[in-house]
Amino acid sequence: MKLTVLGNWGACPQAGEATAGLLLNVEDRIFLLDCGSGVLAQSGKFCSLGDFEAVFLTHYHHDHCADIGCLQYGSKFAQIYGMRREPLPIYAHDRSPRFADMTYGSFTFGYAVGPDTSVERAGLRVSFAETVHEQYNLAMRFEYGMTSLVYTGDMGPRSNIDDFCAGVDLLVCECCFLESEADETLGHMSTRDVGLLARRAGVRRLMLTHFPHGAEGMLWENDPERTRELRGRMAEEVRGYYDGPVLLAEIGKSIAMDNGQWTMDKADILQPVDQWTMETEKRGCSTE
Ligand SMILES: [Zn+2]
Repeated sequence: MKLTVLGNWGACPQAGEATAGLLLNVEDRIFLLDCGSGVLAQSGKFCSLGDFEAVFLTHYHHDHCADIGCLQYGSKFAQIYGMRREPLPIYAHDRSPRFADMTYGSFTFGYAVGPDTSVERAGLRVSFAETVHEQYNLAMRFEYGMTSLVYTGDMGPRSNIDDFCAGVDLLVCECCFLESEADETLGHMSTRDVGLLARRAGVRRLMLTHFPHGAEGMLWENDPERTRELRGRMAEEVRGYYDGPVLLAEIGKSIAMDNGQWTMDKADILQPVDQWTMETEKRGCSTE
């Protein structure tokens, strides 16, 4: 299993970047998890339009599915020009009228999923759990061999997914607020909420994503320095509640996991995250 970050912003992308999107490689198959704004442009750096085995959507907020329409056009071209033969499967819940849009001619096909269903494709097993969010959202657990991964999509702290996340090799969790700005009515997680979830569930590693565009009354647009500083603070706050390795999702960076073993190139995933984060990871690995 190899996970590549295509997008890490909540709400909207900043210059040249993308909102929610992850690429999951399992052997020679490529799965797309969420397809937010800018994700398709990022995916083109790693694979072709005809390469996707399937798409999994957590919910229908724009920052998680804005590029679905363009992906459908791309899938059409992929079929017309012989890059794929079958419709691209899009797995998503059907609690919204938007589900009907997931089927587009013979090019993409929507399959309804939910907490009572599971999917198995090419040896990858996928299960789902509802979270508490402004809109119905499905957290997703991916298992292949001995390796497991949960991607939360969007959720608030009242979500009951501790058992669903229990013991996973990697929890990719949304993180929208500093601890001082926690507001559970907004259906998003603060650093404290994320750290406590990771601790309760006993996850082996944690990756923060779905980052905010500012904090403490400030909005920062296209300001990499402040963005980096804020994310560093967020990771540090999470560390106050969770002892395992904490990573910050970086667009274009990858993690490989094989039967529970961490085989990523640390310099790759963590650069340009601060040195202290790298030290955190080393400490985490040394205890395994
Ligand atoms: Zn979102």
